[in-house]
Amino acid sequence: MNKHLTARSFLVALLLVLLSLGVFAQEKLDLPMLDRIRTEGLNNSKITDLLVYLCDIYAPRLPDSPQYVQAGEWMVGKAKELGLANAAMEAYGPFGRSWELQKFYAAMTAPQYLPLIGYPKAWTPGTNSVIKGPAVLIQPRTIADLDQYKGKLKGAIVLTQGEQDMSISFDPMASRLQPSDLDKLILAPEPGGGRRPGSPQMGDMMARAQLQQAVNKLLKAEGVGVIVEPGRGKFGTIFVSSGGSRTKGAEMPSPAIVIANEHYNRIVRILQKNIPVELEIEVQARFTADDLQGTNVVAELPGVDPKLKTQLVMLGGHFDTWHSGTGATDDGAGCAVAFEALRILKTLGVKPRRTIRMALWDAEEQGFVGSRGYVTNHFFDRAKKEKKPEYDKLAAYFNFDNGSGKIRGIYAQSNSAVVPIFEQWLGPVRDLGAATVTLRNTGGTDHLPFDAVGLPGFQFIQDDLEYDTLTHHSNMDVYDHLSRPDLIQAATIMAWFVYNAAMRDEMLPRKFFDPNAQAPGRGPM
Ligand SMILES: [Zn+2]
Repeated sequence: MNKHLTARSFLVALLLVLLSLGVFAQEKLDLPMLDRIRTEGLNNSKITDLLVYLCDIYAPRLPDSPQYVQAGEWMVGKAKELGLANAAMEAYGPFGRSWELQKFYAAMTAPQYLPLIGYPKAWTPGTNSVIKGPAVLIQPRTIADLDQYKGKLKGAIVLTQGEQDMSISFDPMASRLQPSDLDKLILAPEPGGGRRPGSPQMGDMMARAQLQQAVNKLLKAEGVGVIVEPGRGKFGTIFVSSGGSRTKGAEMPSPAIVIANEHYNRIVRILQKNIPVELEIEVQARFTADDLQGTNVVAELPGVDPKLKTQLVMLGGHFDTWHSGTGATDDGAGCAVAFEALRILKTLGVKPRRTIRMALWDAEEQGFVGSRGYVTNHFFDRAKKEKKPEYDKLAAYFNFDNGSGKIRGIYAQSNSAVVPIFEQWLGPVRDLGAATVTLRNTGGTDHLPFDAVGLPGFQFIQDDLEYDTLTHHSNMDVYDHLSRPDLIQAATIMAWFVYNAAMRDEMLPRKFFDPNAQAPGRGPM
């Protein structure tokens, strides 16, 4: 027997003793209802159909782009068709300018012809026409190195990085959390971890960022034609996000594209032999001219309990995506899971005591803009330190946004009081692979704006599958890299969590919140 197992058995025994002593309240679980949720969710799932619409037809969805609005209107129609109430695209405040790609072409034309796998960076301007010319490789090591390029780069096609490391990877592409990983996740992290300001790595990062800034400034001042960057991935996969600002009136950056490492490296190696490389690149892209009101997609299954129906249980994921794939795993998956969970409950004729509200967020990728706006409007305005009426009525928010891997448990987000509750909810779905409750926090997605104002917002623990290796913000974030069996499991468990939160006598306990404290950092996206 391994020692983790021993520790685990001890904790389970301790929990049982505490339960028997009445230290934690016993949750009233409606197990016949769970059986019905499982049957509808696991055997009659409609999630595949939804995923085709969200990940093939109405995608990609950069915030407030025409594609986003079209998809939102389709989603609202879908919610109405299901019989949900108050389905709408709800404005949350200004987002800024949006961006739409209209045409892209890139090729090497000498010494040989090669069509390039690539994508423009979002929020960078088009090239006006086809730019043809030699590839210019500049590799400054210091800011002073940049002087030699001044006056020489007007209209040029510029590469600023050397050959990328493409050593063979023997690690598997996809992974699931192993029991040992989950055991580790239950334990508290070592105190005092993380990089401290002043550490050597931190110094390196700062220096690199400063050099990069100086390079961008020079290229902009020189009026380069287009910047070509490597795509970070393998097998033709490129990771690409934004290269400019969404703020109306902000200075336009240089046009910039990202190409597959395999193609990038070929160009660099030819140049290093002093043989010219000719490239042809055309980008047509459009910024929306005016500030647009950003919108989230919302819909409700109304509560029926006279005393509790004004209270809320929320669930969701983010509706916006990056542009090179279709945002299938980030976060079409979360939107589909939330909608399918509601479909399961609606199909079963569930009459929840509290109102269940789905929200599909805008502009998560730009720093939770949609969910932050929503929290400000409905719950708590941090700037004004002002509590809104719904603040005291939110029982919980459940978020799904870590790829398409199934639910293995949930982060309790430093809220000890919810741990025994979630453990009891997970008890009867352990056979589906979801059993772990960790007190740890997780960041990087839309539960954070809730958490930041003391509201119980949670993100599930999910299997990674190919999220970190392949799909997250890449051109391979498409339908084919979703795991439908995993999402069927996830929607079923989401439905069970939301059902429990909507039916229990009390709202979920909250952790201590000091409205006067500094806002916590927003963490990585
Ligand atoms: Zn996401």
